[in-house]
Amino acid sequence: TDFKSDKQPTWCPGCGDFGTMNGMMKALANTGNDPDNTFVVAGIGCSGKIGTYMHSYALHGVHGRALPVGIGVKTANPNLEVMVAGGDGDGYSIGAGHFVHAVRRNVDMSYCVMDNRIYGLTKGQFSPTSREDFETSTSPDGTHQQPVNPLALALSAGGTFIAQSFSSDAQRHAEIVQKAIEHDGFGFVNVYSPCVTFNDVDTYDYFRDSLVDVGEDEDYDPTDIEQATEVIMDGEKEYQGVIYQDEDSVPYGERMGFTEDMSDIPDSAPENAMDLVREFY
Ligand code: SF4
Repeated sequence: TDFKSDKQPTWCPGCGDFGTMNGMMKALANTGNDPDNTFVVAGIGCSGKIGTYMHSYALHGVHGRALPVGIGVKTANPNLEVMVAGGDGDGYSIGAGHFVHAVRRNVDMSYCVMDNRIYGLTKGQFSPTSREDFETSTSPDGTHQQPVNPLALALSAGGTFIAQSFSSDAQRHAEIVQKAIEHDGFGFVNVYSPCVTFNDVDTYDYFRDSLVDVGEDEDYDPTDIEQATEVIMDGEKEYQGVIYQDEDSVPYGERMGFTEDMSDIPDSAPENAMDLVREFY
C-alpha cells in the first residue's frame, strides 16, 4: 500500500525527517493498514508538515496539541489507526503536559517524535532535548540546563511501550515503529532525526557512531523494567530499539468500553451524544 502523497516535501535536502516519514509509512503498510483507515495528526514544526506528505486522513493541529486531537479521533472512531507525529519542541516543551497524560492514559495509538534537538522551523533555537553545552542563537554560551530525557518522562508516566530509533537506520526504524503500532496501547517512539541545517552536533555521523541497539543484546529483556530503567537513565550512551514494553498493557478504550464508532452521530442530535457520554461515564 502506498502512503506517499503526490506533494513534494519542502524539508531541507538531507533532513532526517525524510527517513523518519518513510519508516512510518512502511510500518503502517506492514501492519496491514491502508490510507482509508489511517489518520495522521501532526503538531507544529518542520515535523508538522508530515500529514501533507502522507496519503491518509490527516490533521495539522495546533502547536503542542496533536496528542489530544489524536486521542479524540481514536475515541470517536476506534476502528481507525491513529498515528501522531511531532518534534521535540512540539512534544516536550509546549506539549509536555499532553505527552505525560497521553502516556498514562494508554490510548491505543502510536506517537513518533522526530527528535533533532533543535527548533528547525524557526531557524535554530535550542529545544528541550538540546545538550547543555549546545551553542545556538538563543544559547550563545550553552543552554545551562539539563536536556529532557523523553524516555524517562514516558517511563515515569507509566508508559507501556517506550522505544527509540534512528531515521537513517531505515529497516530498523520501520521495524520499531511497526512494533509501536502493533502494541496494545500507547506506542511511543523517540526518533533521532537529524537537522542538517541547524544542528552540527547531533549529526548522522554522531548517531551512527554512538548508537547501541538493545535488540542486538540477547540478554536484554524489554519487559524487565529494571533493565529498561538502567538503559533509560544511562547518560553516557545513545540507545535504539524497544526499550520497554508492558505485555499486559490494556488500552484505555478497552477499559472504558469505547469500542463503538461514534463518528457518525449527527451534529443535529446532541441528545444522542449526551446519552453516549452518560453511558460511558
Ligand atoms: Fe529538517 Fe532542520 Fe531543515 Fe527543518 S530546518 S527541514 S529539521 S534540516
